[in-house]
Amino acid sequence: MAAKKVKTYKNYINGEWVSSHSKKTFVNCNPADTTDIIGRFQYSNEQDVNDAVAAAKAAYPAWRMMPAPVRAEILFRAGEMMIKQKEQIAQDMTREMGKVLKETRGDVQEAIDMTFFMAGEGRRMFGATTPSELANKFNMTVRQPIGVVGMITPWNFPIAIPSWKILPALICGNTAVIKSAPDTPLSVHALVKILHDAGVPKGVINHISGEGVEAGQPLVQHKDVKIVSFTGSSATGRLISEFCAPTFKHCSLEMGGKNVIMVMDDADLDLAADGAVWAAFGTTGQRCTAASRLVVHKKVMKKFTAKLLERAKSLRIGNGLDAKTEMGPVINESQMKKILGYIEIGKKEGGKLLCGGNQLKTGKYKNGYFIEPTIFGGVTEKMTIFKEEIFGPVTALIECKSLEDGIRIANNTSYGLSASIYTKSVNSAFTAIRDTYTGLFYVNAPTIGAEVHLPFGGTNDTGNGHREAGQQVLDIFSEWKSVYVDYSGVIQKAQIDD
Ligand code: NAD
Repeated sequence: MAAKKVKTYKNYINGEWVSSHSKKTFVNCNPADTTDIIGRFQYSNEQDVNDAVAAAKAAYPAWRMMPAPVRAEILFRAGEMMIKQKEQIAQDMTREMGKVLKETRGDVQEAIDMTFFMAGEGRRMFGATTPSELANKFNMTVRQPIGVVGMITPWNFPIAIPSWKILPALICGNTAVIKSAPDTPLSVHALVKILHDAGVPKGVINHISGEGVEAGQPLVQHKDVKIVSFTGSSATGRLISEFCAPTFKHCSLEMGGKNVIMVMDDADLDLAADGAVWAAFGTTGQRCTAASRLVVHKKVMKKFTAKLLERAKSLRIGNGLDAKTEMGPVINESQMKKILGYIEIGKKEGGKLLCGGNQLKTGKYKNGYFIEPTIFGGVTEKMTIFKEEIFGPVTALIECKSLEDGIRIANNTSYGLSASIYTKSVNSAFTAIRDTYTGLFYVNAPTIGAEVHLPFGGTNDTGNGHREAGQQVLDIFSEWKSVYVDYSGVIQKAQIDD
């Protein structure tokens, strides 16, 4: 059989598809079957970054001056095109990233939702008008764009996360350069191609593929990049924050999580077990909002554990393109090794392995990166698997004595993205909403399921105070200007007694 021809994808700079100055490419393969090659992508370097930033800088004055409702018309067209291409993008995304088709369709839908939401902002972007303390004076606030945005994204939401950055940045009047995650450049390629076809002018959006140090770092450090918008691990985020600090570059960071589901003794245990399985093993546990800690009231621990194990053991694992598959592979070899390493640490530190724990290596799994859904019981707050983000199909059961004890355990983390509680008591639910220090909170639902019109982000080491999505995302990509218009014709002095 003749070998399948592998397509080479190019960077998108200044409205054109171009090769990297490095003359090097890297291979992107399917984590469910590494013999399935998705394509070759440009191994970008600092020169490519310089070209892309120069294009974005040159495009900025005209894009800034285009009325926001006109910018929005282009985004509406992009949204329509995304709807038409949804299935193809989802199929490609499952091939490059591994998660099951239902989830990649959801990923594309999230980008569609964000596109229409932000296009709508083209006719809103409300400021405020407010009275002046002086007569014949008018006060208002307006948003102003900032300039070139550098965007760095991870692989777990290959199109949704880039859309959460690109669309709000563009509607505010900024231009952008995105460096896609090395494992998922094809999804960003598809999004950028749609923006190109929808009529986004040259230079307004630019895409380079490649590695963090060679391509991401020069982008973050480029003097003409005014805002950095990053999603990824807290370790990389800390580094990026340090790169931005010397020049006071705006820097928005969305980072790791160690999310928690609390199951109280009055909970609907079937509902809670369904939610825990979805939150722990959906996207193979590779979500920033994955529930890697299940804090369960001691009175219901035994019953809940039995229901959880029954569900987890029955999950069908395989290639995400197969409609019957419920959990796909993990993203790559190094991530697989890291997860298996955490499983070993969990066992060594005294966690009780209740199910899973193994790599699947034979038969249909032999060319992929598959790990069984893994549940540890008897986990304590001292254990590494309680504290550190694993980012794989591994979750831990921790016993609590009461609502207050559960909330205390939930808050005992260096992260703060998402938490949830299963209870029938409105009092317990509201107490937990108030006392759990996270950016997202769910009642009788798992830790995942964010919608684009609500702010998204976390506390502690998960974020640095910004929120993506919602109208709040506009605060990342614009700056407020307070405007005072004095039409009295005389000098008036605020705060000065006459
Ligand atoms: P990562 O930090 O390894 O990489 C993220 C991105 O940063 C990649 O594009 C990478 O190439 C780039 N990068 C790496 N080093 C760099 C450097 N020195 N300079 C500039 N760029 C650099 O993270 P990952 O493995 O891709 O993603 C998983 C992490 O992302 C998890 O911690 C997860 O919780 C987090 N995440 C957070 C959110 C959120 O919204 N809070 C959403 C999704 C994922």
